[in-house]
Amino acid sequence: CGIIGYVGDEAAAPIVYQGLENLEYRGYDSAGIALVNGARATGDVAADGGLTVAKRSGEVSNLTVPDAPDATCGIGHTRWSTHGPPTDANAHPHVDCAESIAVVHNGIIENHEALKAELGDHEFTSETDTEVVPHLLESELSETAGGDAVDLRTAVERVVDRLEGSYAVCAIHAGENRIVAARDGSPLVVGHGEDAAFLASDVTAFLEHTREVTYLEDGDVVDLSADGDVEVFAPSDDAASDASVPDSSA
Ligand code: GLU
Repeated sequence: CGIIGYVGDEAAAPIVYQGLENLEYRGYDSAGIALVNGARATGDVAADGGLTVAKRSGEVSNLTVPDAPDATCGIGHTRWSTHGPPTDANAHPHVDCAESIAVVHNGIIENHEALKAELGDHEFTSETDTEVVPHLLESELSETAGGDAVDLRTAVERVVDRLEGSYAVCAIHAGENRIVAARDGSPLVVGHGEDAAFLASDVTAFLEHTREVTYLEDGDVVDLSADGDVEVFAPSDDAASDASVPDSSA
């Protein structure tokens, strides 16, 4: 029932964990964190390409926060289960087969059964509606568009186009210090920090870090990059609007 994301130049795990604690008042039955493994010293490109995921049913304090001082990009989730009981396996984040994509989601994906049926060769490990999202992203990212690999933002846009129901979804991808998110029917707000960006269901998740925020609208897709740049893509826009300079486009 709560989402938090951070990308910047500080260790992400403690910031994401604190965000989860700040969101506790919303109610939840499970919690989890996913981080892009990386080396801060080398800048925005993550070093070893993998993700670290920790998730548990029960209190946020049940989570063992990964000791990952070099990971500077992460997402977290407190779950209020709608599909599948509150078990460790059903807790978010959910990952694809290769465990290179992690997704947190608030809301309900009404057409998850139909989408799952299309993903016949993918192995699912939870009973959630959410788990189709990382697998759909995995399929999109394995496509090429005119010879170029499909990038994470394009993949998220294509996948959310196919979702019916309500969602705020956030995705991270191994090897990229970047968060791509979208919303339709569930809240999502961006926080602008110094060389950092935050994403959450509610500003209370990151208020100790910044009070400069952009509220996303239904249909928006947002791309947060390692240097704190935020691009919002509204459904009717051809070009992105730079959220850090609100008056430059509209
Ligand atoms: N429908 C998802 C689930 O049951 C997300 C629930 C939520 O919003 O926390 O896992």
